[in-house]
Amino acid sequence: MATEPARKGPKLTTATVLRTERLTPHMIRVVLGGPGLAGFPAGEFTDHYVKLLFLQPGVDYPEPFDMAVIRAELPREQWPTTRTYTVRSWDADTGELALDFVYHGDQGLAGPWAAAARPGDELRFMGPGGGYAPDAEADWHLLAGDESALPAIAASLERIPDGAPARVFIEVEGPAEEQDLKTPGDAEIVWLHRDGGRVGEALARAVRELEFPAGRVHAFVHGEAGFVKELRRHLRVERGLPLAQLSISGYWRLGRDEDGWQSSKREWNAQVEAEEAAALPS
Ligand SMILES: Cc1cc2nc3c(=O)[nH]c(=O)nc-3n(C[C@H](O)[C@H](O)[C@H](O)COP(=O)(O)OP(=O)(O)OC[C@H]3O[C@@H](n4cnc5c(N)ncnc54)[C@H](O)[C@@H]3O)c2cc1C
Repeated sequence: MATEPARKGPKLTTATVLRTERLTPHMIRVVLGGPGLAGFPAGEFTDHYVKLLFLQPGVDYPEPFDMAVIRAELPREQWPTTRTYTVRSWDADTGELALDFVYHGDQGLAGPWAAAARPGDELRFMGPGGGYAPDAEADWHLLAGDESALPAIAASLERIPDGAPARVFIEVEGPAEEQDLKTPGDAEIVWLHRDGGRVGEALARAVRELEFPAGRVHAFVHGEAGFVKELRRHLRVERGLPLAQLSISGYWRLGRDEDGWQSSKREWNAQVEAEEAAALPS
């Protein structure tokens, strides 16, 4: 008699750190490998992301490790803490997955973890999710973000169609954080330096001041939630962009860790949408 297949949650992968590389003073690449990555289903999107799982110290997790079982059987404070990271690259031939971590100081879990990661360390994660890739039919592309969105912007630039115009704005702390980005597109890349200023201020100004090229734009705007909110309003209300042409979200929130940001995100988004609806012509 046929039995019901067991209900499965999002795919859980266990990978091993192969090597790490300081790309810039505040950006650390961690390259993962191992048999757990076989058949890793990334490729459709250029903003693929994974949810890293950091185990709570002192907790005995049931084996085999299964998030559905952990959520059903352990109290919430013992669940692993999750942190979200973009798939900077996945090479199915070599079986290597690269994640780029902003090292934003000693605070937090994921940044310090990446700084301390050594070959042989294990990392568990769920995913990948994702939703954006440059639209081949767009007349031009707008990509804007801070360091947290730089891995997704870099991966997206590699997939811009040959010769397609792209206007790219990336805000980083200073010149030492700039990276060499490759693209077959006709991209004008502007690096904005924060120099100790407010996150997103220079970026929001640059996008506001941009004279939009003619034609249909496909836009990707991500990073700290405060400037993302400001730019969403600008692009939707002042530039009249429909949501279908826009991938936009807050990747993190100043002064909140990821748990705090994720738990307030729904309310934040509802407020952004309500303000926008009130400002848009009916
Ligand atoms: C879909 C998605 C993809 C993402 N991709 C990436 C990626 O590829 N690389 C990446 O580095 N981040 C990425 N992020 C952002 C990342 O998940 C958050 O920055 C996360 O909070 C970092 O976790 P943490 O443990 O280092 O710090 P947390 O414990 O979450 O936060 C500790 C403190 O650091 C602050 N903080 C958090 N992030 C930053 C930052 N970037 N700069 C300055 N201060 C910060 C917080 O406000 C808090 O005060 C992504 C987020 C999403 C939603």
